[in-house]
Amino acid sequence: MTDLDKLQELIIEFRDERDWKQFHNPKDSAISLILEAAEFLEHFQWKNEEEIKQHLRERGEDVADELADVLYWVLLIAYDLNIDLENAAESKMVKNRLKYPVEKTKGKHTKYTEL
Ligand SMILES: [Mg+2]
Repeated sequence: MTDLDKLQELIIEFRDERDWKQFHNPKDSAISLILEAAEFLEHFQWKNEEEIKQHLRERGEDVADELADVLYWVLLIAYDLNIDLENAAESKMVKNRLKYPVEKTKGKHTKYTEL
């Protein structure tokens, strides 16, 4: 069992103890994922680079909490949709390598459609 599997198990146990599965249809779970991503993003809104560094020093734990909330929903949705996230991520990385060949993309932020 991987660390990701253990974490997923912890999340599902947390949900089941509270009988929340009844609320977790794919649409509302996807909305929750994006809302948590927005809460993470909110930490950076309106701040310049220096302010972000300071914010991360002062509120780093809060930022980490929001990122953890994003992971919570990623793992929960993967479980509910029966997606093997490790396989999916590995497979996607193979696709990314093909989409962004090193010789065309090294040191560039160009989107693959513009390569
Ligand atoms: Mg949150």
